[in-house]
Amino acid sequence: READAWEARHEPARTRDGHRVEVAANLGNTAHAQDAVDRGAEGVGLLRTEFVFMAHAEAPDLDTQIEEYREAMDALAGRPLVARTLDVGGDKPLPYWPVPKEDNPFLGLRGIRLALTRPEVLETQLRALLMAGAASDGQPRPLRIMLPMVKDIAEFRAARAILDRLLDEIPEAQRSIDVQMGVMIEIPSAALLAPSLAAEVDFFSVGTNDLTQYTLAIDRGHPELAAQSDGLHPAVLKLIEMTVSAAHAQGKWVGVCGELASDAAAVPVLVGLGVDELSVSARQVPLVKARMREFDLPEAREQARLALSQPTAEAVRDALEAR
Ligand code: PEP
Ligand code: MG
Repeated sequence: READAWEARHEPARTRDGHRVEVAANLGNTAHAQDAVDRGAEGVGLLRTEFVFMAHAEAPDLDTQIEEYREAMDALAGRPLVARTLDVGGDKPLPYWPVPKEDNPFLGLRGIRLALTRPEVLETQLRALLMAGAASDGQPRPLRIMLPMVKDIAEFRAARAILDRLLDEIPEAQRSIDVQMGVMIEIPSAALLAPSLAAEVDFFSVGTNDLTQYTLAIDRGHPELAAQSDGLHPAVLKLIEMTVSAAHAQGKWVGVCGELASDAAAVPVLVGLGVDELSVSARQVPLVKARMREFDLPEAREQARLALSQPTAEAVRDALEAR
């Protein structure tokens, strides 16, 4: 079956009855974009740009960043790139950006909160992304800028204001640019407030790793609690359901870029909840596409309904398996 999955890796991912869901790759290194395309990725659904920063001894300057992002976009050849802005703090320190010691780094100055304390760093990154995405040959490259760890609309507005100012600075003649700005849904408050966010953002991508951590109050790396830290928990699924319905009501798209997106049992559930894109490690792309071809949309919706009605993650897994 793995051989069949590999054979069909460049075919689009469709359910048996033809429902399309985009399957993209998660990337930490822009040099791996070509490999992702070779494995059938239809785009990059999550570029963890903090790894671009961590690979340098000091903050990469504008030109260095442009070069890095351009490398990924060149390899993608017109496929979309979802670039997440710097997501440091918490468990991901940056040596040259010291953060005061915190008792609870996972609940502290991290993600977009940290970025907004140094808006000039965020501004340089946004500028680099825009310049990498700008039309070089009349064909702008689809650039999707994604903000990490957003808890409500205020953080999105602050970042959007910087982006809008940068867009205004670009001379009219060169303003051929295909950019969207969206947010990660990885804090429960953002899912609960999805209708207010959906009115202004261009897209959502659900980070099930952190969303599970913050919903269940279980450290995502806790060795003893790993078995209980399950993204198929009905509480997490309810938040995803709220996110998708709010997004679709406003004509916005929703991806899932956490680990759950490559879980064989979760794929039909996420498709049944209406997710438009799954972003997984490059190695998993052919397998997730193959998984999509095993069920049809009514079946997926039934599985989502079944999962949502269970009381625990264990019950969800048992119920899905029993089908
Ligand atoms: C997530 O939280 O699910 C996610 C995709 O982001 P990261 O794993 O980089 O925190
Ligand atoms: Mg996260």
